[in-house]
Amino acid sequence: MKKIQMVDLKSQYNFIKKEVSDNMLQVFESSTFVNGPMVKAFQADMENYLNVKHVIPCANGTDALQISLMGFNLDPGDEVITSDFTFAATAEVISLLKLKPVLVDVDPQTFNIDPEAVEKAITSKTKAIIPVHLFGQCAAMDSILELAKKYDLFVLEDNAQAIGATHTFTNGKEAKTGTLGNVGATSFFPSKNLGAYGDGGAVLTNDDELAHYIRAIVNHGMYKRYYHDVVGVNSRLDTLQASILKVKLQYLDFYNERRKEAAIRYSDYFKNHQNLVTPHIAGACNSHVFHQYTLRVINSDRDALVDYLNKREIPCGIYYPVPLHSQKAYIDPKIDSANFPVTNQLVKEVISLPMHSELTHDQIDFITSTVLEFFT
Ligand SMILES: *Cc1c(COP(=O)(O)O)cnc(C)c1O
Repeated sequence: MKKIQMVDLKSQYNFIKKEVSDNMLQVFESSTFVNGPMVKAFQADMENYLNVKHVIPCANGTDALQISLMGFNLDPGDEVITSDFTFAATAEVISLLKLKPVLVDVDPQTFNIDPEAVEKAITSKTKAIIPVHLFGQCAAMDSILELAKKYDLFVLEDNAQAIGATHTFTNGKEAKTGTLGNVGATSFFPSKNLGAYGDGGAVLTNDDELAHYIRAIVNHGMYKRYYHDVVGVNSRLDTLQASILKVKLQYLDFYNERRKEAAIRYSDYFKNHQNLVTPHIAGACNSHVFHQYTLRVINSDRDALVDYLNKREIPCGIYYPVPLHSQKAYIDPKIDSANFPVTNQLVKEVISLPMHSELTHDQIDFITSTVLEFFT
């Protein structure tokens, strides 16, 4: 059996080597390393795939979040509600822009922001909500969009972990995550479901006016060269990365299918186990693309399980070990940790198992039997 990895980018590369090399050579030959034709071609492919009017490529997912938020033109001190259980980038960009991150608790089944907690946190200063489609599963967007309408708030989706996931609205209409709110931000970090061979990101929106403004922001605030109408940033997707992403986008649905298959195989072994809670899969699993396969370990010692697996050369991850409200950078002495019973519990219980498109049945079977052995 091949050595198990959390993400196996090398094996994935072996299947697309020729296409990647051909595209990269084209970039070298054309020597358009910044904003070359490959960036535009990839952008068009993404717009097509996501069925969204505008994809604005940028340097990474964190930039995509920041630039999206800049697009809302908020005032210092305005409040932005987001999840207490996410990667720090989500809250980081709020604080960087001198806005106030308001963290709220999550749903214990989906690990996604709890719409009831969002509504409770809304004040007269609230201007936006950032739902995170954590681990690849779409957040409760029907409720979130309803709240946004009711209270006149912007919605920025953090879609870094869920590219390719589909949301089915209660009226039966379907759309890709990241295209449901005013704007979506995504990341092409190598380990993400659509990963480059370096950094990359994109902003997604159906709003023409916002797209026009955001295109200026990513390019030093210029609508016209050397005329700076607004304060912007420099955030570009490298042409070489675009040429790689253009190849990989063709396989994204296949990669996501493989992840789902692996997740279903894991869950078949673990379901009904007294110490394990398997990921909650909404509907026909069409809204979950399993960026991570994350179990909850209950009435047992999660950290001992981590050691047990590592000793047997099975990698695993704890996403995330600390709730954002307890991170030093984001602690607010006026906020009581007791407001976050779910995240406080999850950080002690979650464990993510290897998850990627190249996992073999042998590997999954070895991982599952080792996990089950730990509890015997
Ligand atoms: C990866 C990630 C980001 C940041 O993306 P980068 O490309 O690494 O900047 C933001 N939010 C979430 C939830 C992520 O998982």
